[in-house]
Amino acid sequence: MAEVIPHWLSKRAELAPDQTAIELADGVVYTFQDLMETSQSFARKLRSLGIQKHTKVGILSANQLDMVAAIHALTYLGAVGVLLNTRLTDRELNEQLHDAGVSLILGQERQSGLTAETYTFAAIWELPEKQTDLQHELDLDDAFTIIYTSGTTGTPKGVVHTYGNHWWSAIGSMLNLGLQPQDKWLAVLPFFHVSGLSILLRSVIYGIPVYLMEHYDKQHVHDAIMTKNITIVSVVTNMVRDLLTLLGESRYPDTLRCMLLGGGPAPKALLETAKTKHMPIFQSYGMTETASQIVTLSPADALEKLGSSGKPLFPAQLQIDAPPQNVGEIFVKGPMVTKGYFNREQASQKAIQNGWLATGDLGYMDEDGFLYVVDRRKDLIISGGENIYPTEIESVLALLTGIQEAGVIGRPDEKWGQVPVAFVVLRDSSVTAEAIEAFLRQHLAGYKVPQAIRFLHELPRNASGKLERYQLAGYLNSGG
Ligand code: ATP
Ligand code: MG
Repeated sequence: MAEVIPHWLSKRAELAPDQTAIELADGVVYTFQDLMETSQSFARKLRSLGIQKHTKVGILSANQLDMVAAIHALTYLGAVGVLLNTRLTDRELNEQLHDAGVSLILGQERQSGLTAETYTFAAIWELPEKQTDLQHELDLDDAFTIIYTSGTTGTPKGVVHTYGNHWWSAIGSMLNLGLQPQDKWLAVLPFFHVSGLSILLRSVIYGIPVYLMEHYDKQHVHDAIMTKNITIVSVVTNMVRDLLTLLGESRYPDTLRCMLLGGGPAPKALLETAKTKHMPIFQSYGMTETASQIVTLSPADALEKLGSSGKPLFPAQLQIDAPPQNVGEIFVKGPMVTKGYFNREQASQKAIQNGWLATGDLGYMDEDGFLYVVDRRKDLIISGGENIYPTEIESVLALLTGIQEAGVIGRPDEKWGQVPVAFVVLRDSSVTAEAIEAFLRQHLAGYKVPQAIRFLHELPRNASGKLERYQLAGYLNSGG
């Protein structure tokens, strides 16, 4: 029998109508009652466009109130939201629109280069409401969102999330972080990434306010944490770096109890600095396929296990495809894990077997069961039979102050099979390849020291800001 829960926003509005759901930077506040009414009205207007249960609706927007209403409106219609990254080019967007079968997009602005018709939020508000039945229950097996992976290792894949995936993700997070009456979660990560969207859904499921930020501006984020009684904020590595600079010698208020860090690797040196500044960082590991974090370092362990991503959340399981304490592929299982990619039967079957998702990431578990993520399996360099992890070399390079950023890949080599090569963006142009090499020799075993160091003006990054190592391979032959 299908598992059904009451519609989560209606339920929250019934339980806590006057509680704040959304707080905007300009001080405007929406209660759960307001949010429910706004979303239902938006849903009735969308119905007049013929949107039905299972219709795929694109959403292309920065974090703003209309986007929030649009996302919740889809839940009242049973429609599926295809959340699109605003940094993608038209060509990339059209690929996703075609792949997901989207014919209608809701967004901030009209777009001309897209194959689906766009309606601005403002245009939807102009439409008449259609009298229609809205969903008052949610079937946990129904699809709710499709979000494309970042495409760091190849073509982005559309991950289908059910209501159940999001529900269990929220429950798993709460069983780890706990829930406190004064909780307020700062949402600055974009809602088109699952790390951002999950904040919105937790707000409804937990009954806590979201402090909404439309764009990332480090000073605004810093000021909000300082003055707006934020208790939890989801961050990525670069944000931590920015905030540390702004923080200087001061400290964040003690009411800030959690900075949930995810999305990619974080250099240990950065985590150490954050620790000395009393930043309550909770390292986490997850991916689009797991509807946000699935492994998180709990408060009690955060200091002792620096660099670890922690243990699997209560409803989740973790396995490493290797003998104990050895590096192998990470497998995860749990009700927050997607049942598959949209339109990709084969890829789905390959990635998910008996509920276990092959993540494509390498890691190991220490003797206490804490996960350490090492690198992507695709990026592993094998040199003379030794495994080399590019991330390790990149984080050593990042210790050199004259270096802004670095990327490392393997180059085919007759003698060794592969050897590491580093691509470096300098902050200080007087730094030489010889100086970098000498520095690396102090910190790394000889076989890990790159055989060549190339200088670039910038590193290739995708629309999620992630380093695309496969693009660096193209520079190997071009002499760039
Ligand atoms: P694609 O799957 O299309 O190649 P992607 O894997 O970058 O893109 P996302 O789902 O946005 O797409 O990112 C998830 C990935 O981010 C993880 O599989 C992992 O490689 C990386 N990642 C997430 N958390 C961590 C972490 N704590 N440490 C290291 N890497 C992490
Ligand atoms: Mg991936």
